[in-house]
Amino acid sequence: MGKATGFREYNRENPKKRPVEERVKDYKEIYYKLPEDKLSLQAARCMNCGTPFCNWGCPLGNLIPDWNEMIYKGEWNKAFERLSITNTFPEFTGRICPALCEGACTLGINRDAMSNREIELSIIEKAFKEGFVKPNLPRVRTGKNIAIVGSGPSGLAAAAELNSVGHTVTVFERADEIGGLLRYGIPDFKLEKYVVERRVNIMKEEGIIFKTNTNVGVDYPSEELLKNFDVVVLTGGSTIPRDLKVEGRELKGTHFAMDFLRQQNRRVAGKEILEEEITAEGKVVVVIGGGDTGSDCIGTSIRQGAKAVYQYEVMPKPPEERDDSMPWPTFPRTLKVTTSHEEGCTREWCVNTQNSQERMEC
Ligand SMILES: Cc1cc2nc3c(=O)[nH]c(=O)nc-3n(C[C@H](O)[C@H](O)[C@H](O)COP(=O)(O)OP(=O)(O)OC[C@H]3O[C@@H](n4cnc5c(N)ncnc54)[C@H](O)[C@@H]3O)c2cc1C
Ligand code: SF4
Repeated sequence: MGKATGFREYNRENPKKRPVEERVKDYKEIYYKLPEDKLSLQAARCMNCGTPFCNWGCPLGNLIPDWNEMIYKGEWNKAFERLSITNTFPEFTGRICPALCEGACTLGINRDAMSNREIELSIIEKAFKEGFVKPNLPRVRTGKNIAIVGSGPSGLAAAAELNSVGHTVTVFERADEIGGLLRYGIPDFKLEKYVVERRVNIMKEEGIIFKTNTNVGVDYPSEELLKNFDVVVLTGGSTIPRDLKVEGRELKGTHFAMDFLRQQNRRVAGKEILEEEITAEGKVVVVIGGGDTGSDCIGTSIRQGAKAVYQYEVMPKPPEERDDSMPWPTFPRTLKVTTSHEEGCTREWCVNTQNSQERMEC
């Protein structure tokens, strides 16, 4: 533990956000970083629990209390090394992970939980700035060739791990850029694409081969793949949207989220839009679905200049505080207000799209 009384002395402090009126004019990330002195006090709040529930809550098993103590003591390189044991891409999780660790933090029982995600992001960004992040070249090559099909976060993580133990790895991607949904799904205001490119460049230096515009099974026959590689790892994600079989579904102006979001990410990257352009400019937008993808559609619509944005969710409005159905240390499924919600939209719950004029009994 960095400081035994830290949790009593310091309150949680979240990083500031760019003002709404400024940020809706661009697609840049929203959060400022906390300065190092403030971050050290945030790390000092960690109680180094005998049973660290944060470590249990994190899907990666990140050794959170360890790096919190190191940050309190200013040991940034050590913290980076400890974080790297469990997390291949902290710059992605530090930006977009839902922070399940924070839901499991013991402090959260009667105070604000630790700001682990913010600390994680600061560790990796400092590591990049200071040059701690270096290509991790294997000492020997095994002579085994591995093909990874799909370059989203799962394909990239598999590639990094397999390359680090000496296999020769080729990543195939059917899109024109590497990154999967990190590149062509998640908007830039949540994850700017230089972050993906920076990591991919390091992976190239590590010897990983990337082949874009290659749709395995179409451009590259699977028989050939099986002949040329010892192992094939399938990390193709899912591009099948969940449709709604409702009257009027076929009407002009009704789109899947991914068609809308992908186009905007391409525009931000200065790329050509090959299909019919979708834009929310000057329109009243209805987003069906109250989750994160819906929220990303809201932020994108607002930036494109929508007249008004509504979000309809089929489930009831969640409570603002934990209730008996979500006891600590389970993840609190409480009301989430994202940065896109803050930018201006009307949210409604218990709206069943199949019967658009009716309200479900909640
Ligand atoms: C709009 C949106 C917002 C999201 N926001 C968040 C968030 O804030 N936080 C969070 O934790 N998660 C978020 N997610 C979820 C997260 O993006 C996904 O869970 C994650 O990207 C899945 O990774 P993946 O590698 O399995 O698949 P993907 O990222 O989908 O990557 C799969 C890749 O495989 C390629 N591929 C498929 N078939 C082939 C083939 N035959 N040949 C070559 N390439 C192929 C595809 O083109 C694609 O690039 C969001 C998802 C969406 C859609
Ligand atoms: S923010 Fe996500 S990845 Fe990072 S420690 Fe918490 S749960 Fe793990």
